[in-house]
Amino acid sequence: MENAIESTEGLIEELLENPEQQIVDGSQAARDLILKCKQLNHKFAKRAAEYDQEATWPVEHYEELRKAGLLGLMIPQKFGGLGADFLTYTKCLEQLSQNSAATGLTFNMHNITTGILAEAATEDIGGRRGRAINEFKQWALGEVVNNGKMFASANSEPGVGAHFSALKTKYRKVEGGYLINGYKMFVSMLGYADYYTVAARREDVEGDLPQISFFIVQLDTPGIEVEKVWDTMGMRATVSNNMLLKDVFVPEERLFLGSEGLGLSKLAREPHWVIGGYVGVYLGLCQGTFDYMVKHLQKKKIPGTDRSVIEREWVQHCVGKLAVDLAATRALVYQAAKLVDEQRGTLETNTAIHCSKHAVSELAPRLASEAMRLCGGSGISKRLPLERFYRDARCGGLMPATSDECLLYAGKAALGFDLMSIRETYW
Ligand SMILES: Cc1cc2nc3c(=O)[nH]c(=O)nc-3n(C[C@H](O)[C@H](O)[C@H](O)COP(=O)(O)OP(=O)(O)OC[C@H]3O[C@@H](n4cnc5c(N)ncnc54)[C@H](O)[C@@H]3O)c2cc1C
Repeated sequence: MENAIESTEGLIEELLENPEQQIVDGSQAARDLILKCKQLNHKFAKRAAEYDQEATWPVEHYEELRKAGLLGLMIPQKFGGLGADFLTYTKCLEQLSQNSAATGLTFNMHNITTGILAEAATEDIGGRRGRAINEFKQWALGEVVNNGKMFASANSEPGVGAHFSALKTKYRKVEGGYLINGYKMFVSMLGYADYYTVAARREDVEGDLPQISFFIVQLDTPGIEVEKVWDTMGMRATVSNNMLLKDVFVPEERLFLGSEGLGLSKLAREPHWVIGGYVGVYLGLCQGTFDYMVKHLQKKKIPGTDRSVIEREWVQHCVGKLAVDLAATRALVYQAAKLVDEQRGTLETNTAIHCSKHAVSELAPRLASEAMRLCGGSGISKRLPLERFYRDARCGGLMPATSDECLLYAGKAALGFDLMSIRETYW
């Protein structure tokens, strides 16, 4: 079979136009949403340490998100969701992640699926293909808004990471659907989420680039096994275990957006969900770390005196430097998210997303480290949140796009490479 990458290019174009989101940044509705997330963040603060220590899913947090209707945060109102734009989403995630970054990170995994579906302009696509696309979209979004279901992502693989063009998990067409065989790692919420978006390459496609498609599977499908290997330094409550898929049958209706081969073109053209979703999480973690540091320093005394350490000029200087770095990073993150709303899929937007991902991923561990230096020995205590922030912060630059890949992208963009071509990207 011939590579279908070229034939999906047209579909990607068609899916691009969709100014359907109703809650826009700056509106009262957006402010209300962000406030709701801020309130939830205070609740999350009370339980985050326990979930981290036990490395268990923050199920009470998910329940609260569900009760607040936030599982439909990205789903357009006409489908029964809240319909946030990308900047409002980023700000919501920033709030939700300040005390429990693992909650924010896994919530983002859910929104990667709903967000991609929500922004796909599908209604004007006609014929059998259009019917399949729209039925899929209605089913998936309906599962969230009507039945409170959650989605997770099963993309990464051992030895491959999130480099989609090198994926080893394969699928083939069979009567009524597809058969998938492969091995996924780092699947956050594996065992808790209701549905898993699995990326796989079509096995009978030749050419230098594989045909990558996405499928929705449920855990109780015969042939799926979970390997419980998750015992990590950071983001422990994401419980990102391994998934084995052996001759897993997926019916035709569970082919993502009813279309094969969307994977690589979509990643090259519109990487904002797979990359830019994380930036709100790590920005929130930066803010949570900064706020903790400030409160701690305000209470800490200069040894042998009643005077606070914040009277020391070098402390003010160090905190000031971090405040500037945080403000600059926030500006980059918001600017990139705003560009997604204004001109999704342009080189300028995609470059801004990569720049913001790099900035926030690098700031988070540096800020946590500096905060520990300023706060002193108690910073490593398991009874206080700073050591958890420090461990969680280390994960940002490892997630797609890794910090090195972000630099590569920004460099290539500046040097005039054609980054709309998958061959020029790191995927
Ligand atoms: C907490 C957490 C949760 C996760 N949850 C999920 C999930 O739910 N679903 C999922 O599918 N995945 C998930 N992942 C996996 C993640 O998406 C990445 O696939 C994974 O972190 C990559 O690890 P790796 O060892 O394969 O890194 P690699 O991709 O091998 O990268 C290692 C390093 O090599 C360098 N490098 C690699 N390629 C390039 C390049 N082309 N150019 C320049 N430098 C390069 C970079 O410095 C990089 O940091 C999660 C990861 C973490 C940490």
